[in-house]
Amino acid sequence: MASNLLELDIEGMTCTACARRVEKNLNKLDGVSAYVDFASEKAHLQLAGEIDLDVLKQAVESAGYRVGEGKQELQTLKPRLIIGLVLSALAMVFAMVPGLYFEGSHYLVWALATPVIFYVAYPFHAAAIKNLRHGDTTMDTLVSLGSSVAYLYSIYLVFTGSMHHYFEVSAVVPSVVLLGRFIEVRARRSATDSVRALLSAIPDQATKVVAGKNQIVPTHTLRPGDTVVVAAGERIPADGILRSTASIDNSTLTGESLPVELVPGDKVSAGATSLAGAITIELTSSAGTSRLSRIADLVREATAQKTELGSLTDKISSIFVPSVIVISVITYLAWALIVGDTVRAFEAAVAVLVIACPCALGIAVPMSLVVATSLGTKKSVVIRNPDSLRQLAKIQRVVFDKTGTLTDGKLQIVRAVGLGGVTAKEALEKAAAVEAGSKHPIAMALSATKTKLSATNIQEHPGRGVSGVIDGTLVFVERPTTFENQHELDAELAKAGANTLVVVSWEGWAHGLIELSDQPRQGAQAAVARLAELGLGTTMLSGDNERRVAEIAEQLGIQDFVSEASPEAKLEYLRQHQNVVMVGDGINDVAALSTADIGIAMGSGAQAAQAASAITVLDDDPARIPYAIELGKKTYRNILQNLGWAFGYNALLIPVAALGLLNPMLAGVAMAFSSVSVVANAQRLRWQNL
Ligand code: ADP
Ligand code: MG
Repeated sequence: MASNLLELDIEGMTCTACARRVEKNLNKLDGVSAYVDFASEKAHLQLAGEIDLDVLKQAVESAGYRVGEGKQELQTLKPRLIIGLVLSALAMVFAMVPGLYFEGSHYLVWALATPVIFYVAYPFHAAAIKNLRHGDTTMDTLVSLGSSVAYLYSIYLVFTGSMHHYFEVSAVVPSVVLLGRFIEVRARRSATDSVRALLSAIPDQATKVVAGKNQIVPTHTLRPGDTVVVAAGERIPADGILRSTASIDNSTLTGESLPVELVPGDKVSAGATSLAGAITIELTSSAGTSRLSRIADLVREATAQKTELGSLTDKISSIFVPSVIVISVITYLAWALIVGDTVRAFEAAVAVLVIACPCALGIAVPMSLVVATSLGTKKSVVIRNPDSLRQLAKIQRVVFDKTGTLTDGKLQIVRAVGLGGVTAKEALEKAAAVEAGSKHPIAMALSATKTKLSATNIQEHPGRGVSGVIDGTLVFVERPTTFENQHELDAELAKAGANTLVVVSWEGWAHGLIELSDQPRQGAQAAVARLAELGLGTTMLSGDNERRVAEIAEQLGIQDFVSEASPEAKLEYLRQHQNVVMVGDGINDVAALSTADIGIAMGSGAQAAQAASAITVLDDDPARIPYAIELGKKTYRNILQNLGWAFGYNALLIPVAALGLLNPMLAGVAMAFSSVSVVANAQRLRWQNL
């Protein structure tokens, strides 16, 4: 069968469900087999014969999306922005610096403003007309209306021999609004770039074993259950289980570039590199469902959706814009009917429209966000979801996981005893074999014990422990519960210190008690103290035993703690408490992290935990937590101030304009001032000790 491959850029998708919708529509076409990847915004098509591109385009459009023309938003914005900024700056200078007035200088300003109105402001006019057809008014409407009215009215003024004109205003308004848009798009783009980088770790083609023969196939055709061969130096196409020994570089997923030696039965992830020899893998995922692509999806999803903060501007405009238009009409009517002067009525109505155009509004939110994100990144705080900044402003309590979050998670075995006629050594070896399959901090400590035993059918029970089968016997390594030899265990438990406790058991008998301990992270106590200073409550939520949790809480100065909390109990706690931040690191925290108003994940913890959180602390330093919260609060306040600056001058000057007292000079100064105030106020974040 002759088949050709085709790739299309799909625009307008905001979530993975959109991708499925496009995919479904494309697959409906005869001879088309499609796979749409949300994160890279691409449709991969396999075509059985010749298919008209327009047919494909239509299928995508009928799902409500577009086939991209390959031209980047930034590229189309840039020339407009540069021309707009240069010309409007010149227009301002010639219109407002008294020393530069000359006979006929208004013709020069007119000439400078003309390309701005027709070329730079074109997107606003286009959007305004499009909105008008739906009966909508947005900021685009005001920008388009305000700037063109100012421009046309200035021409009228020039012809009637007036000294005044509003040409520079008509140029400044669209240019500054465009600047805001540019900043916003660039911020979104940089997130998209990091997604591209992640996904580039997945190869386009893979070697699949079909009936004992190797065959090169496109990666997106792989399915769970397929067997693939990966040569040395190549990347693994999808998640799977090793069928041969391997040496793997996992740096794409963990950032850790030390090679890891793996044996048959070990799990490998898409995007990792095989370092030596050809390895065989049985796939457990397709390319689109691997861990790596799920992470990429999450990041893209976080950035694709219009931020709520952005909609804040929209919400304000949806009231502001129609009000301004109404006020302008009323102004005209009032002057015309009461004073009876239609010329001054028109002038005042125009002045209202022009002065109301809040050109700084477009930059109010992005300016603060850009400054805050760059400040955060410098201190290892990665803000994945800018909306979280707004929620941070309302936070009252910080809830911590213990192990790996407040403590360093590097557990040491403090004591081990054998029970039920078994030696401590035997219990430890069995524990090591079972824990080999887990990534929990406890497992890291226990699996260090050398053993020849190996366990099969290893299962993790989050918040409880692990089980596995050794030589036909089901062995549990978990927190203390009840056993046949309870008296013997109780006697040893009574001797135990305030440590993390693990029992090794089989056939209902406790055969070993192991005590483990780790250290509070450096700076954890100071972080808790700082949070108290900020007026925030702190709670420790742990699955560990009461004594251990109480001990750590005491050391760190945390008043409130919950011990022996299962993952479900953690989730329930967060459902019941509003306005809390949850800080965690492990798989057992994922549900809690995504339920909390804000999740903060430790950078060295599980990827899934980071994916479920709005913020990641890359270097694990607890001091970053109060920092992130302060940054959020200050940024949100900064955004509100910016909105105030952006609207303030305009709102104040609307009555002045309506009374017919506004002159173009005043209008120009107000525009300039509100933009400068917004930029300066956003920069002020840098000096607020952050
Ligand atoms: P935390 O909330 O402190 O991160 P977990 O919920 O992960 O703790 O675990 C709670 C308790 O369950 C631990 O104190 C331990 O007794 C037991 N446990 C959890 N995972 C394991 C494991 N892999 N091996 C042995 N015991 C475990
Ligand atoms: Mg933990």
